[in-house]
Amino acid sequence: MDGAKLNGKPVTQETLEEKGYKRYHGEGIDIYYSKDICAHIGNCVRGNPEIFEVGRRPWIIADNGTAENAAYVVDTCPSGALKYIRKGE
Ligand code: SF4
Repeated sequence: MDGAKLNGKPVTQETLEEKGYKRYHGEGIDIYYSKDICAHIGNCVRGNPEIFEVGRRPWIIADNGTAENAAYVVDTCPSGALKYIRKGE
């Protein structure tokens, strides 16, 4: 699922927060997560266990990988529970 879009439109911080997504700040990318939407399929933790680590607080550390890789892994989330906003775009 396209992590940069929601219902076919580019995501914004405002819409994501309105919909209950929590922001995980990074230098080059912010990652957003909705626990209500998450289907616990695990593509995120398999995709990059440095960024996504379920037993850790915070469980998402956006800067533990490149922004490119974080966006790639977020796009593999099948439920739409993960979204991202790249910085400087
Ligand atoms: S890939 Fe998406 S649906 Fe699967 S565990 Fe991660 S956040 Fe949840």
